[in-house]
Amino acid sequence: MGQRMSRRFVAGMSVEDCLVAAKEVNDLGMSVSVDNLGENVTNAEEAKHSAALYSEMLCQVHKRKLNANVSLKLTHMGLDVDPALAFDITTGLVHQAARINNFVRVDMEGSPYTQKTLDFVQQLHRENGNAGHVGAVIQAYLRRSESDVRNLVAQGIRIRLCKGAYKESEEIAFQDKAEVDANYVSLMKILLKSGVYHGIATHDERMIQATKDFARQEKIPSSAFEFQMLYGIRRDLQQQLVREGYGMRVYIPFGTEWYPYFMRRLAERPANAMFVLKNLLK
Ligand SMILES: Cc1cc2nc3c(=O)[nH]c(=O)nc-3n(C[C@H](O)[C@H](O)[C@H](O)COP(=O)(O)OP(=O)(O)OC[C@H]3O[C@@H](n4cnc5c(N)ncnc54)[C@H](O)[C@@H]3O)c2cc1C
Repeated sequence: MGQRMSRRFVAGMSVEDCLVAAKEVNDLGMSVSVDNLGENVTNAEEAKHSAALYSEMLCQVHKRKLNANVSLKLTHMGLDVDPALAFDITTGLVHQAARINNFVRVDMEGSPYTQKTLDFVQQLHRENGNAGHVGAVIQAYLRRSESDVRNLVAQGIRIRLCKGAYKESEEIAFQDKAEVDANYVSLMKILLKSGVYHGIATHDERMIQATKDFARQEKIPSSAFEFQMLYGIRRDLQQQLVREGYGMRVYIPFGTEWYPYFMRRLAERPANAMFVLKNLLK
């Protein structure tokens, strides 16, 4: 029952479920990034299993000519268990993506991982043949983010800008929504002016409007960046942006670890719980 309820936000348990959802999203004029749910694995086998699913996903995306890339978390690749293993298997996936002209987005996790994750993305991006095939995520709530953005952009690394999803201390992170939003807008401006193709990931209409306004004012074409949203969230807004001619990428999660992700989406917005319940009763 839980799996049925979660279908609005999670594509299903298997690679095939996710490929079906990716095709549906592509048919609506949107690109996709797929995420095998899970983080902080506690043994090497789990990490290798997830990497195998990503590898299969990249193969199938290529074979079926889907417009989709992949997003992964380094702790899901085993960063806490054996950093060398995590770096090895992620390197393998980036090489595979580069060979088929695809892309691996390394999601950003809580602050204990920020520097390690950015170091690793930069190291991978420098490797022969990888430039443009691996990218980072920047969280607008972190006070350090402007300096990280300038550093990554100088190397031509693609960035997904999001507000940030973890609980962080006052010392390192803005706590007020207004401050986070103001930083989001100022980072968005640096990204759009950089000449590198970045992702503006948000469901916040004010952030989206600020991005559109800035692009128009600076004469930056809509093809120079993309918006990104989560599967099942603000589908109306996703389609509206497509109709207006903007690139829209939908982040589609799948996998056996669907439960915590689903609960987070419900917790973010109680109306989601009502919506899911009503559909179940129907
Ligand atoms: C594609 C994508 C990738 C992401 N990757 C990362 C990552 O790697 N690391 C990381 O820390 N965070 C990541 N996030 C999460 C992000 O940091 C935020 O926690 C999340 O997107 C909510 O922020 P918001 O910009 O939508 O703005 P908010 O200010 O949180 O929300 C603005 C409005 O969006 C709508 N909304 C937001 N959430 C929901 C919901 N669940 N259901 C319905 N409506 C909703 C509501 O209308 C709300 O008023 C990602 C988000 C997206 C979209």
